Amino acid sequence: MNLKLIFRKLQSFKHKKNNLIYNFLIILLIGSPLYYLNSETLDFNWPILTDSLSNRLTSLFGESRGDHFHNGVDISSDNENILSIGSGTIVYSRYMSDNPFSGEFGSGNCIWINHGNGMLSAYYHLKEGREDDFLNRRIIKKGDVIGKTGNTGHSSGSHLHFIIAKENGRRIINPLTILSKVEDSKPPFIGSLILTNGENYTYINDGENINISREFPITINIHDTGEKSGQKRGVHIVEFSVNNKVIKKSKFDSISLEGQYWTNETGLRFDDLYYKGNYYIGDLNFRSGQNNIEVRAEDFNGNQSIKYFTFNVNRIK
Ligand SMILES: [Zn+2]
Repeated sequence: MNLKLIFRKLQSFKHKKNNLIYNFLIILLIGSPLYYLNSETLDFNWPILTDSLSNRLTSLFGESRGDHFHNGVDISSDNENILSIGSGTIVYSRYMSDNPFSGEFGSGNCIWINHGNGMLSAYYHLKEGREDDFLNRRIIKKGDVIGKTGNTGHSSGSHLHFIIAKENGRRIINPLTILSKVEDSKPPFIGSLILTNGENYTYINDGENINISREFPITINIHDTGEKSGQKRGVHIVEFSVNNKVIKKSKFDSISLEGQYWTNETGLRFDDLYYKGNYYIGDLNFRSGQNNIEVRAEDFNGNQSIKYFTFNVNRIK
């Protein structure tokens, strides 16, 4: 329930006359940490202060990382201040210097902050060297410097990987859903269809004739370029239609842990969405004659690309 709603409820309660209880409730509400947390969560800032974010976002939420979803956003950065996205308390931090004899985690030096209401944020691959008095200062204000960007852990090239989670970490959300908008006016790139057969693959282009004997996994290369065409980032929405019927639609706003699998809000797991590093349309058994596939991709700013493939299939034994 948001604050406005609570106040409106209290107002109507007031009109029903019990002034004493009304005043008591208001005092309770103002004094409650919930009041601050509710207003805080609507107002997180980006962890790096820069006006060139659109060119420095190198990876987005939900991308394929071989066998799992990329669970955050990557900002290309070296030795810059990292700001806490909101106020809260430090719940976890690990630096190599804490235990030089133990193996390095994939996250490298990292910090997790609890913002209340089950919301957490995490910052990975930090440069060695904690902020002064960091271990003693557990209360963090929004915008406080919590470390410097680096290249520790599994990281090729200095960058900040950061994560925003809800429900005490059981749901990881796309930071773009709550942070201020980043400029992006270019629609996603959609490549050729790819028919995979074990380690071999072949492209299917619009207007082609293909000979096939059975069903095969069909995938497609899609990426969002951002303002600079050099980026290869994940997209926000993908939709695949085969012979004029939508067979898969997915939106990358959050992933949550269902049993032992992370699934997105469409209920799809990693293996439903990706195959060998590309977006997975499905194991398709084309009919003899003309077939068509429509691929739609949308980036987070609503820029959309649609590509149609019509091809002729010759079924062979
Ligand atoms: Zn990352």
